[in-house]
Parts: sequence; C-alpha cells; structure tokens
Amino acid sequence: MASDVCSHVKVVVRVRPANDSEKHENCRNVVQVVDNHMLIFDPKEEDLSCFGSQRVRNRNINKKANKDLKFVFDLVFDENATQVDIFENTTKGVLDGVMNGFNCTVFAYGATGAGKTHTMLGSQNDPGVMYRTMKELFKRMDDAKEEKEFAVAFSYLEVYNEQIRDLLANAGPLAVREDSSKGVVVQGLTLHKISKLPNVKLVKLTRDYAELVMLQHIKTFWIISCSKKAHIPYRDSKLTRILKDSLGGNCRTVMIANVSPSSKSYDDTHNTLKYANRAKEI
Ligand code: ADP
Repeated sequence: MASDVCSHVKVVVRVRPANDSEKHENCRNVVQVVDNHMLIFDPKEEDLSCFGSQRVRNRNINKKANKDLKFVFDLVFDENATQVDIFENTTKGVLDGVMNGFNCTVFAYGATGAGKTHTMLGSQNDPGVMYRTMKELFKRMDDAKEEKEFAVAFSYLEVYNEQIRDLLANAGPLAVREDSSKGVVVQGLTLHKISKLPNVKLVKLTRDYAELVMLQHIKTFWIISCSKKAHIPYRDSKLTRILKDSLGGNCRTVMIANVSPSSKSYDDTHNTLKYANRAKEI
C-alpha cells in the first residue's frame, strides 16, 4: 500500500466462518481459500473440505460440473482472520495516505449476512476496522501535531438496491450529482466532525448507529452495499460512480468484499466475487 498511489482499488476478500445453520443444514462449502491471494469458487469436489464431515462418495452423475473458478485478489482472508488481521492489512495502510493528504475510501461490499457489519463495526469487545482505524488515526495525529493541523470528520453511507442512505442521519435516499468543481457528490450526505477518539463503549454498535463518529478532509466513505440488485449495468451503478470519483485525483481505496463460504449463498458469493474482480480495474 505504501507506494501504490491511486493506481487501483486494493481489493481484498474476507470469507466468514460458516454459521450454525449452514453447518447443520449440511451445506456445501463453495469457497476454498488457496492462499493469501487466491481462492477457488465452487471448487471441484475432490478439493473440498466439507466442514470436517465425510466427503460424498457417490457423486450424482446428473449434477452440473463445478465451476471451479480461480480468483486472485490483493489479499484473501479465510474464516480464521481476526479483526486485527483485517485492520493491519487494509485500513492501516490507508492511513499513510490520509496523513499525507490523500483522499481515501474504504468500503465493505457483499450480500446481506456476508459479514460487512462485522468487518466495519464488529463488537464492543472486538471492534472492527472503523474503530481501530480511528484509534490509529488519532494516535498518528497526536504524534504529528507539532507539524500539522488536522480536521477530522466522517461520513457513513450504504448503497442498497441502488439507493444511497446516510447511516448517520435519519433521512430518505440521497442522490448522486455531478458537480463541476467537486466531481461526483452524494447530495446531503452528513459529515460528522470529531475532535477526539470516541470511547468504544459509547459507540452504539448497530446498523442504526446514529451519533457515530466519522471523517472529513480526508474524504472517507464507508460504503456498505449489496449484490442482490439486478440488471444495473456495472458502469452505471451508483457504487461504481461514487468509486470512480474517489479515484479521481489523489486517492487510495480499499474494497473489502465479504462472502459466506456456504452453498446457501452460492449466487450472492459468485456475484460479489465477480464485482470485486471487476473493481480491480476501476
Ligand atoms: P452483513 O452486514 O453483511 O449483513 P453481518 O456482519 O451482520 O452481515 O454478519 C452476519 C452474521 O455473521 C452476524 O451474526 C455476524 O456476527 C456473523 N459474522 C460475520 N462475519 C464474521 C466473522 N468473520 N467471524 C464471526 N462471525 C461473523
């Protein structure tokens, strides 16, 4: 991250652990993490680790062949990745850019239940990247306070079914507009200035998260989106438009694509991986 100024979105994928219902319903594991950079979607049966259960011996000959698609990303995190691992390898690197005046964007992408909120917010005992990033940001600002002056504010938004919602304000959907001087702007998105690190206990760790905490100057959006939306051409989707703008000028962007490992989310996972793969080229 240190040297790649604004070339591409850094795309990482986080595969969450299977939950109890996925385990009990005997779902198949459709994501095989090969190493830090590669995963296989819908791998051939012989490559599967079936949640420790016995491999199915009598294969159904009528069954469609597995897709066995290999995807390569900047980083791939398997189910054992901790919140610290995610922070250390994603947003921590972005802070170098923030401290040097770059626009930075971090967003989680994935279907409902794939782990976006867990990655972003986490829990009080084990916070996600938002709190960890803020903590590190305030530490670095304190270290540099003799040389620089900082202003910090955050926005937090969600793109869902092509609708943009401000997660820090109780308002209706927001529009994206082209502004001749500012580029693409999300109209009416609130910016919340903060002067010190909020106590994690005061941070209401829910989706409705009203009085959080967020950033500015530093144009950091935390976007949570979903692959349920249908038939929106990739180029025209709101998320792509906002992201393209983030990438204009000086910027660093990290996309954390969240997926479930289970066959129950087969289509969602496939779609998320395809979008993440294309985002490498934005
Ligand atoms: P989303 O925000 O994408 O809808 P969530 O973050 O709410 O999904 O995750 C769905 C469920 O899975 C939650 O109960 C969450 O705690 C759990 N979960 C998600 N990711 C992980 C993970 N990496 N480790 C453990 N539990 C997780």
